[in-house]
Amino acid sequence: MTETFKAILVSRDEEKKQSVAVAELAEADLMEGDVTIAVEATTVNYKDGLAITGKAPVVRRFPLVPGIDFAGTVTASSNSNWKAGDKVVLNGWGVGETHHGGFAERARVKGDWLVPLPEGMSPRDAMAVGTAGYTAMLSVMALERHGITPDRGPVVVTGAAGGVGSVAVSILSKLGYHVVASTGRPAEADYLKELGAAEIISRDELSAPAKPLAKERWAGGVDAVGSHTLANVLSMTSYGGAVTACGLAQGMDLPSSVAPFILRGVSLLGIDSVMAPRELRLEAWKRIGTDLDHAKLSALSTTMPFDAIINAAHDIVEGKVRGRLVVEMG
Ligand code: NDP
Repeated sequence: MTETFKAILVSRDEEKKQSVAVAELAEADLMEGDVTIAVEATTVNYKDGLAITGKAPVVRRFPLVPGIDFAGTVTASSNSNWKAGDKVVLNGWGVGETHHGGFAERARVKGDWLVPLPEGMSPRDAMAVGTAGYTAMLSVMALERHGITPDRGPVVVTGAAGGVGSVAVSILSKLGYHVVASTGRPAEADYLKELGAAEIISRDELSAPAKPLAKERWAGGVDAVGSHTLANVLSMTSYGGAVTACGLAQGMDLPSSVAPFILRGVSLLGIDSVMAPRELRLEAWKRIGTDLDHAKLSALSTTMPFDAIINAAHDIVEGKVRGRLVVEMG
């Protein structure tokens, strides 16, 4: 008898109406790739929420197993870089969008897409970081490349109680930055302070239409929110500062002006995790191994079973999730 495994499957009917269900698949149902992995942990990111709810066209091939990241153990490989028993992590590369993803007990992908599980981290730890946390690390590295060191002044993190935000606050504070955390959830102030935020500000201070320039408040920032929030963050960035744009929780628009760029020399640094080159990924995961306080991973993540994924996907797009959600496979 063919062995089957549990997977979430997003399908579309003739009227292009999307539906989602739990299904049993066999390894023969997996897509092409040279490495097969037993998925031990995965996670629900904002993008996974969009994929499952259908609120944005994240899934572009049907039927598809969503889940943009996973960690697990190689069970079979014809790629010379990997062998059975290796512990691996995957983010992006269209997995969970056009290639079957992490919301299944088995995955098959190109070996070139995989990175080694950082030393000292379990698959669960890696998914407590997940794509959101790895994007936070890419953002911090971009700020560093731009010379935004802790002595330059405070850095702001928007969407601070979310996944990208929580990990960004944790990393930046461990590296010695004075972190200003912007959140719409004042009840999460203690949580954010526990992660290392030095100051908490209300999201309302940044969410209305921005002036071209405002009082200089920070040397840099990690923005997971976009729209008016990013415009305000830019207008409040001090001379020569830099802000990373990595998310769109408020909106995809950027109703800003060129004033911060041409009058204060501010830089806007774009962050993409999906197609980030392998060298950058390896560096980011290595830095996650060293520059994130792993003791904080349990504070910033909630573990849940596979069967809770679909409900969690709805919660995350409604902004109800704090920190990171980790799914441990049975
Ligand atoms: P989460 O939902 O965990 O966090 C988003 C946070 O944004 C929320 O927790 C909330 O924080 C804040 N927020 C939500 N709605 C609004 C709103 N209307 N106005 C202002 N703030 C709002 O998502 P993730 O952290 O996983 O992802 C954050 C963003 O980053 C998403 O847009 C995601 O698509 C993007 N992303 C991009 C990647 C890339 O490659 N560039 C990779 C990974 C994620 P609070 O309650 O604290 O205010």
